[in-house]
Amino acid sequence: MSGTSHSPAADRVAALLTDFLPGGRIGSVVAGEVLAGTGAALDLVNPADGGVLATFADAGPSVVEAAMAAARDAQRAWWGMSAAARGRALWAVAALVRQHAGALAELETLSAGKPIRDTRGEVAKVAEMFEYYAGWCDKLHGDVIPVPSSHLNYTRHEPFGTVVQITPWNAPIFTAGWQIAPALCAGNAVVLKPSELTPLTSLALGLLCDRAEGMPRGLVSVLAGAGPTTGAAAVAHPDTRLVVFVGSAEAGAQIAAAAARAIVPSVLELGGKSANIVFADADLDRALIGAQAAIFGGAGQSCVAGSRLLVHRSIHASFVERLSHAAARIPVGAPTDPATQIGPINNRRQRDKIAGMVEAAASAGATIAAGGACPASLRDTGGFYFGPTIVDGVAPDAAIAREEVFGPVLTVLPFDGEDEAVALANGTPYGLAGAVWTGDGGRGHRVAAALRAGTVWVNGYKTINVASPFGGFGRSGFGRSSGREALMAYTQTKSVWVETAAQPAVTFGYVG
Ligand code: NAD
Repeated sequence: MSGTSHSPAADRVAALLTDFLPGGRIGSVVAGEVLAGTGAALDLVNPADGGVLATFADAGPSVVEAAMAAARDAQRAWWGMSAAARGRALWAVAALVRQHAGALAELETLSAGKPIRDTRGEVAKVAEMFEYYAGWCDKLHGDVIPVPSSHLNYTRHEPFGTVVQITPWNAPIFTAGWQIAPALCAGNAVVLKPSELTPLTSLALGLLCDRAEGMPRGLVSVLAGAGPTTGAAAVAHPDTRLVVFVGSAEAGAQIAAAAARAIVPSVLELGGKSANIVFADADLDRALIGAQAAIFGGAGQSCVAGSRLLVHRSIHASFVERLSHAAARIPVGAPTDPATQIGPINNRRQRDKIAGMVEAAASAGATIAAGGACPASLRDTGGFYFGPTIVDGVAPDAAIAREEVFGPVLTVLPFDGEDEAVALANGTPYGLAGAVWTGDGGRGHRVAAALRAGTVWVNGYKTINVASPFGGFGRSGFGRSSGREALMAYTQTKSVWVETAAQPAVTFGYVG
């Protein structure tokens, strides 16, 4: 227990939870039941006031075991169903998400501190993810391979079995849907361990999956618990066949190493330090809006945040001045207020980390061109607020210019030419995303090709879609989520050979 006070929003959260968890009791969702944990007590803290919303027990080994057993049986039933029936079941999940969209968005806003204008959109996108992958169920098929006519050779895309997914706190239900939908479409069962800081909407989604018509009970389990205990136990379970991790590079490395010891493959979606490059020939009004969306959306707690603004030296001063004025006008406030664009930071530790990095940069001589602290009007709320911040006048190798802040903090670096911009952009170990703003079409494509990143935007920032592949280069991870490529990540290919020759020949195996 943290010893902090009760949040005034606790009763509302409890009321919302009763739609999903019987009696509003928080526990792991396994085969449609809510199982109480056996481990240490964990507090859920309201980011907007610092008070405790609820307390629950870490799942512990017996609950992990129950989830894995349920997944094993449910996956056999799921893969035995027709592809069309699996598609209909995913449509049914989408319909339930739409039916409960209001409650899910409010629950996310109250427990994760995300502005309601964002969570409403994110919940709607979760429904779209299930609809998109519902459509893929009866379209995912192998190929007939053109081998010599003595044989027929074809491929099948088969599920791994039980997939363990571990997700972070910054976009809980969005990330859960982003991973659960393709995993199920590919024929797998899912055991999801969301962040212990924000488990509520993932637990609710797990229950909706269980309630949806046509879904075998236990196909999706959601564990309420901490990473090094419950998460690690799920990763190490002998039934785990694939681990998909979304979170920090540090935890990702540990989890991938644990999986590798059992020869279990992993997909890692990690953090970033993405560059947003603005050339002097760009439409600067649009670039100004794009630069704000890139870093201040989600209070910068976004893996693809455009946290480094690389701006041509000839427009550096004027662009930073305009951006600083604009940043100061972005509404920061209670996440439940529909006008709020920047809510609180998700947790005290993260807010302190952000404040510490900005202070260290300022002490080393950086110019804080905007923000740099909790806005004065929000200081008495107890919430973990931090205003939109712009840090200028730092060297490219300064910590704030190289390390992920994961907050509303933009670092500005001027450049003189295209090659220098690309070198600066590629100058961190990360490679999640990047953007280029220019009026020169050729340059847009040239820089897009040169950036070492899994996603690049030209004259835009942050657009993603469930149909488009997403993932990192370098320290931002490996494997792809979303689109058709996610189905390749969630399946293993089997090659089937059939002898068709009238007179089989004795060969050393290789035909041709
Ligand atoms: P985190 O790595 O601390 O935790 C992520 C998840 O891993 C949580 O559920 C946590 O409980 C679990 N975990 C931690 N240690 C574990 C262990 N040893 N074994 C099993 N599970 C363990 O990350 P966070 O602080 O929750 O999230 C912020 C990070 O996530 C940032 O670095 C951000 O960039 C990244 N992120 C990446 C993407 C992406 O798609 N690339 C998306 C969102 C967030």
